[in-house]
Amino acid sequence: MSLLAGKNGLIMGVANDHSIAYGIAQHCAKAGANLAFTYQNDMLAKRVQPLAETLGSELTVPCDVSVEGGIDTAMDTLAKSWNQIDFVVHAVAFADKSELRGAYLNTSRENFTSSMMVSCYSLTELARAALPFMKDNGGSIMTMSYLGANRITPNYNVMGVAKAALEASVRYLAVDLGRYNIRVNAISAGPVKTLAGAAISGARHVYRHSEQNALLNRNPDMDEVGRSGLYFASDLSSGVSGEVHYVDGGYNLIGVPQPEAD
Ligand code: NAD
Repeated sequence: MSLLAGKNGLIMGVANDHSIAYGIAQHCAKAGANLAFTYQNDMLAKRVQPLAETLGSELTVPCDVSVEGGIDTAMDTLAKSWNQIDFVVHAVAFADKSELRGAYLNTSRENFTSSMMVSCYSLTELARAALPFMKDNGGSIMTMSYLGANRITPNYNVMGVAKAALEASVRYLAVDLGRYNIRVNAISAGPVKTLAGAAISGARHVYRHSEQNALLNRNPDMDEVGRSGLYFASDLSSGVSGEVHYVDGGYNLIGVPQPEAD
């Protein structure tokens, strides 16, 4: 399939080969896209660079979104190689692990601010920085959310608040960028075993409950999330913007789980 032949895609949020961003990148590369990757710090560069190479990319750029101007600097670096971006994958989130447990009530001001900055505001900054590279050709920006944005899930706490704000950002950005034919959407994935996922206290309970009660009786894997990423990156989703698209085997629809079969 060469859905993305000749298209340039920027992938932000690969930490290792289990990262959701890597799952999306694999499908986009298979569909013919040229990819560039950001990495958060030098330690992750050592992991991201070889993974990028497996997908035919030698374009890796440092970008810590918590640093003021970090996204603009990354775009300036990218501009030395690319003058057009067709799609952007934003798969970045962070909250202090010690507050992904216990009561949301105890969220500190410092962690609230940094969680919102990294997990939510970075999408807005990224969209603004990517606009000059996208505005003449349109394209697609996607981010990653989770059900904890609008339902209560154990220990998700400040990340639930950040994801709610992220989903609202998707809608407002979709309006602002719609005039340039740029689509902005979120994928709300069910639990996938990743580094970020493991930081949430009791993740195993959430994983099992979702698996047992999803309409498909399983959680999605990164390959399935990757395929939905390909849909958003490509013209297959050309009529879709401002959406939160669930890739969770239908778990979000459950009110009361079915009784166990006799
Ligand atoms: P992951 O740990 O593989 O990826 C998280 C990424 O965020 C890492 O690459 C990390 O480097 C990056 N990051 C964190 N702080 C950063 C900073 N200051 N600057 C730049 N990058 C930074 O985990 P993942 O599960 O693949 O997470 C990707 C996205 O998917 C996140 O937004 C996460 O909330 C979301 N998500 C995950 C799940 C799940 O179950 N794993 C479910 C729904 C949504």
